[in-house]
Amino acid sequence: MKVEDNTDIIMEGALIARDRVGVQDFVLLDSHTSEAAFLNNLRKRYQENLIYTYIGTLLVSVNPYKELDIYTVTQMQLYRGVNFFELPPHLYAIADNAYRVMCSEYNNHFILISGESGAGKTEASKKILQYYAVTCPTTEQLQVVRDRLLLSNPVLEAFGNAKTLRNDNSSRFGKYMDIQFDFKGAPVGGHILSYLIEKSRVVHQNHGERNFHIFYQLLEGGEKDLLCWLGLERNPQKYAYLVQGRCAKVFSINDKNDWKIVRKAFSIIDFTEKDLEHLFGIVASVLHLGNIQFEEDSNGHVLSPLNVDLAFYARDAVAKAIYGRTFTWLVNKINGSLANKVGSLSGDSTRKTVIGLLDIYGFEVLDTNSFEQFCINYCNEKLQQLLIEMTLKAEQEEYEMEGIEWEPIPYFNNKIICDLVEQKHKGIISILDEECLRPGEATDLSFLEKLEEKVGDHAHFVTRKLADQKTRKSIDWVDFRLLHYAGEVTYCAVGFLEKNNDLLYRNLKEVLCNSKNGIVRDCFLLSELDSRRRPETVATQFKNSLMSLIEILMSKEPSYIRCIKPNENKEPGKFDDCLIRHQVKYLGLMEHLRVRRAGFAYRRKYEHFLRRYKSLCPATWPHWHGPAAEGVERLIKHIGYKPEEYKLGRTKIFIRFPKTLFATEDAFEIRK
Ligand code: ADP
Ligand code: MG
Repeated sequence: MKVEDNTDIIMEGALIARDRVGVQDFVLLDSHTSEAAFLNNLRKRYQENLIYTYIGTLLVSVNPYKELDIYTVTQMQLYRGVNFFELPPHLYAIADNAYRVMCSEYNNHFILISGESGAGKTEASKKILQYYAVTCPTTEQLQVVRDRLLLSNPVLEAFGNAKTLRNDNSSRFGKYMDIQFDFKGAPVGGHILSYLIEKSRVVHQNHGERNFHIFYQLLEGGEKDLLCWLGLERNPQKYAYLVQGRCAKVFSINDKNDWKIVRKAFSIIDFTEKDLEHLFGIVASVLHLGNIQFEEDSNGHVLSPLNVDLAFYARDAVAKAIYGRTFTWLVNKINGSLANKVGSLSGDSTRKTVIGLLDIYGFEVLDTNSFEQFCINYCNEKLQQLLIEMTLKAEQEEYEMEGIEWEPIPYFNNKIICDLVEQKHKGIISILDEECLRPGEATDLSFLEKLEEKVGDHAHFVTRKLADQKTRKSIDWVDFRLLHYAGEVTYCAVGFLEKNNDLLYRNLKEVLCNSKNGIVRDCFLLSELDSRRRPETVATQFKNSLMSLIEILMSKEPSYIRCIKPNENKEPGKFDDCLIRHQVKYLGLMEHLRVRRAGFAYRRKYEHFLRRYKSLCPATWPHWHGPAAEGVERLIKHIGYKPEEYKLGRTKIFIRFPKTLFATEDAFEIRK
């Protein structure tokens, strides 16, 4: 049976398939694990449209920048219930594996998708969601949950994504989505956490970039009556908040069509006409706000106690605040509609497990990097740290704990950079917060001075004094520079204090609290005006939300997808060696490979292993009364494991190659 040109599928007890280009798992590379061999393999495969390659159970994906015929329903079905490594590497294998382990062990999982902006994270997360939507069991009653899960995407993308120089559909917010499954493995609900929407984009876009999609969609696709009611003209050029990037029209984006999709999505996710009226009212009011002009004129105008600069500043602050909070409202509203209402109907709301999908903004280095990039890159440091903790570090520590002989493999641990940013009292966020507590006195420049003073000698902070020697580039007087795990980034400190404080004039808040628009009223509660407590700064809120995200993730079983961006021009087929080598390096893929190659693909507690496979050996079936470890020893001797295939640790059996476990699993299935 031929499925793809270079893929044979042979029926032989089990389904075996091999794409013949290079190796489909880097662990199988013949040569020593050199970077050149790694890149060669990746390139060879990429040129044959084989964009996926494993490192053990981690999936490396290279953005093809063209439609590939590997996401069909037939393909989805092919991967269902099939063991890893028996088919060409695919997202679906990762998704299916997490799903099957969840179903058999009733535990929670997450799939972390990382990589820089434009590497293909969001597409991957959508494809995984589609995979579950198509392949998981469902009932008529559950169809609506499925549709809502899928359609939450276009709505959030309309409000949270924008064209940037790096990606025409760049996610400007972080997203973690739990898909909840019942005990039968049917998706019954979902929950979304969103992180730090880049609201500065509402009022300012760099050249070649756009505002959030929804503005253009509304203008292009909005019904005539609607636009008329909102007082809008169809032409984006008329709106100050849409013209700065000078690219309202984008070749790859069909705003009119997207509007239709978003409209339909809204109706399925349970938005009422009233909700939509208010929501589009807000989108329109932001555009109108942007067109308000102020002039210095003593003879009556609207009178304002502010000077012109401050008036513009206040106007933009209102636009950002309204948009930012509306986005949060939108996420909450979607969560309400995704909330699992089915558990109570089917009488079993207890047995619920989740698979979390994390698609969060990738590492970003722009020409000018501001507070937003600082937060985004800090977030990437945290996720890198999580990956290190859960794989490289955990794996090696486990060997040691289990008494397995092991030659430690060195890797770069970026904890030191996380500490530089987040440490209490000493870290950059604390220093920034302290400056924010000195209104009137502190400025972005005094913040810079404090940085020099307090973290100037940190190995990952490039101090102005040594900048030339350290990186051969001098630092501009308003900038500071950090050496991130993914490379060095120069941040422009201008606006850091203001963005971190994120304050709104009290009288403007009052106006918003009393708005006729229901959503605005929901977003600006009167109680906020009474509160004497100083609200947490943006960076601290973000830090705290990341900490709780990490906690959520640490309690689940991980799967990883590392996305790679092949070139800077969004060009299909172009494999830019230099760019890719850099990503392979900082994503720590070589270290990961080394640990994987020297280590063991699978490990199971003796008790679990025995419970599952005891029927394969007369001595352990139906009951084994001795210690589990001895039972396992008897069992594997009986089924013929060779000494080089496994190691016995203190509490677990370690199996070197996946195929060993698969053979056991197959024998078990046949016996069943
Ligand atoms: P990220 O979320 O990492 O910033 P996206 O997932 O938005 O990147 O991908 C950027 C663009 O790359 C997409 O809009 C799409 O054009 C293309 N792309 C990404 N992944 C794929 C894929 N698997 N197949 C085809 N095109 C893809
Ligand atoms: Mg994205």
